[in-house]
Order: sequence, then structure tokens, then C-alpha cells
Amino acid sequence: MKLDATDIRYIGNDEFRVLTATEMGSKNHEVVPTSLIAQISGLRNGGVNKTLGSLARRNLVARVQNTSYDGYRLTYGGYDYLALRTLSKRDSVLSVGNQIGVGKESDIYIVADGDGKEMVLKIHRLGRTSFRAIKSKRDYLGKRKSASWMYMSRLSAQREWAFMKVLHENGFPVPTPIDQARHVIVMEFIDAYPLRQITSVPHPGKLYSSLMDLIVRFAQAGLIHGDFNEFNILIHRVTSEPIVIDFPQMVSTSHENAEFYFNRDVECIRTFFKRRFNYESNLYPRFQKTIDSKDDGDGEGFRLDVVVAASGFKKQDLQALEEVRWWINNVTLRIV
Ligand code: ADP
Ligand code: MG
Repeated sequence: MKLDATDIRYIGNDEFRVLTATEMGSKNHEVVPTSLIAQISGLRNGGVNKTLGSLARRNLVARVQNTSYDGYRLTYGGYDYLALRTLSKRDSVLSVGNQIGVGKESDIYIVADGDGKEMVLKIHRLGRTSFRAIKSKRDYLGKRKSASWMYMSRLSAQREWAFMKVLHENGFPVPTPIDQARHVIVMEFIDAYPLRQITSVPHPGKLYSSLMDLIVRFAQAGLIHGDFNEFNILIHRVTSEPIVIDFPQMVSTSHENAEFYFNRDVECIRTFFKRRFNYESNLYPRFQKTIDSKDDGDGEGFRLDVVVAASGFKKQDLQALEEVRWWINNVTLRIV
């Protein structure tokens, strides 16, 4: 999807009001009735229709003809727009450059601030491919069904932001978090190659141990990455040090399936090193030993999972997020 930075600055006041009103209305309506948009925005009906028309031409909202009433819904473009506008008002992001990644659940862009400093913008798009399929099968969103993709994408971004912050503050090698708004986060640009692209390293054993050490450090701080693979490990171009990205799915070591996730992360690295570098080692971390060994060191009080959990995520929301991710990873391909 194209993001046009010039658009951020050139939107009229009325357009912005109507767009915001559409967003607010979609908390309770899958299709927001035009009359409700008029009411929230405080514009007269005629004015609202004209403004909605121009927003629709720019693909920021989409007209939907319902069986019972006509209305509009916010598009991905409209939601992106609102997030970028917030970031630009805060002077975090001034311009949007090239797209450098399209994930299953995200779009990644290079952006810059007023000083021309390059950063990475990650837009979460949970359910881009599969929301309709998921929604028809499951009912976990309850009353909030209507705003599902927006809500889930925002939750995912907030969660990634919370983890990135707490990891960064505690000295883990992750990008510096810069800002977050709606379904978007802004972080430091890492001059690096994904491990996936690296064909040879001078000392595979050294890199292997530093990655296993990271898994151990995470776990001793109460966390499991949950997607610790060659795509989410960046190797710095200058220092060759690994930097870890992509955190929305991180889980606590107290999670009921913690050991499974922990072992899967470990296995990912072992398998990759075997295949790519023909490197195998008998040394690899075990879940229980790692958790137990914690008490010999720092003692209590260094539980980052507890810090993140305390930052206000509701239990049922997290469950919904986890289920959506599960569906995306396991079911989407068969349904589409
Ligand atoms: P997804 O959830 O879609 O997998 P990621 O956060 O893993 O998204 O990012 C996708 C890709 O974008 C990464 O594999 C990496 O190549 C690039 N990328 C992400 N964040 C950064 C960053 N901070 N600096 C440089 N490249 C990045
Ligand atoms: Mg990734």
C-alpha cells in the first residue's frame, strides 16, 4: 500500500473531523451510519456527505451499502493516515520513504524526522489476509467484532511497543523505540542484514552461543520471544552483533505453554545453524534449568513479563490476540 507523506499535511479541517468521527463511530458500528458521522463531527448533513465523498476518493473511507442503512467504514488507508498524522503532529515523523518489508502481519517503511534522521515505521496489519475467514469461524471478539482488524492491529502494536521499551531499558539488543500511535510503531533503523541473508560467518559457534545466551537472558527476565528465527534476528553490518526484532507475540515464562515456545525458539536456531553453517552443538539451553538457574543470580525482582503485564493489557484481549495469531499462522493458508 502506498503511503503518501504529502497527504499528511494537506488535509482540511473538515476532512480531519469527519475522518476522526468515522473512526470513533467504528467502535460500535461495522458500518458507521452517515447520520452518526454527522452527529459526531458536528457538521451539517450536506457538508458531511461532500466531505465523505472526497475522503472516499482518497481511499481513506469506503462507502458501504448495508441492507438496513448506508454508511462508511474507515479503510486501512484512513487508519494509517490518522496514525501518521498523530506522529507528524508530535514531530516524530516528517516524511515517509520506501517500503522495505511486507510481512504477513505488517508493512515496514523507512521514515525520517525533521533532522532527516532515518527510522523504521512498522504498521501492524493483523488480519489483512484472514480476518473474514477468522471472523466467520470464531466469536472471540464479542461485541467489539465490528472494529476487529483495527482493534487487533492496535493491540498488537501496543504490545510490541511495551516489550520493545522494557527490553531496551533493560539492556537487551533491540532497536531503540521512538514512538507509537494507533497500529504503528516507530523505531531506530538498524543497519543490518537479517540472519536469513547471511551465507557464512567467521565463527558460527560464537554467534550460536550469543543467540542461545539471548534466549537464556530473555527467559531469566521472565520472557520468551516466541518467534526467534533467522528473519527476526538482524546482524549489524558493522559490529556483526545480533539485534532482535518483532515482539508482539512474546510470552511470559509463566505461560502454560512456555516450555513449548522456549524449545521452539531453541530448535529454530539449532536447525538453522545445522542447515546454513553445518554447525551443530550438544550445548543448548533447557527450559527448567534456565528458569531454576535464575535464582542463583539476580534473585527476585527482574521479571519483565510482570512489568509488561502491569502496563494495562486485559486478559481477554491478550487471549484474542493470541488466538488471532494462531489462526493466521496455522489456518489462513488452507482457507484462502
Ligand atoms: P513482521 O512482523 O512482518 O515479521 P518484522 O518486525 O519482523 O515484521 O520486520 C520485517 C522486516 O523488516 C525484518 O525482517 C527486517 O528485514 C526489516 N526491519 C524491521 N525492523 C527493522 C529495523 N528496526 N531496522 C532495520 N530493518 C528492520
Ligand atoms: Mg518478523
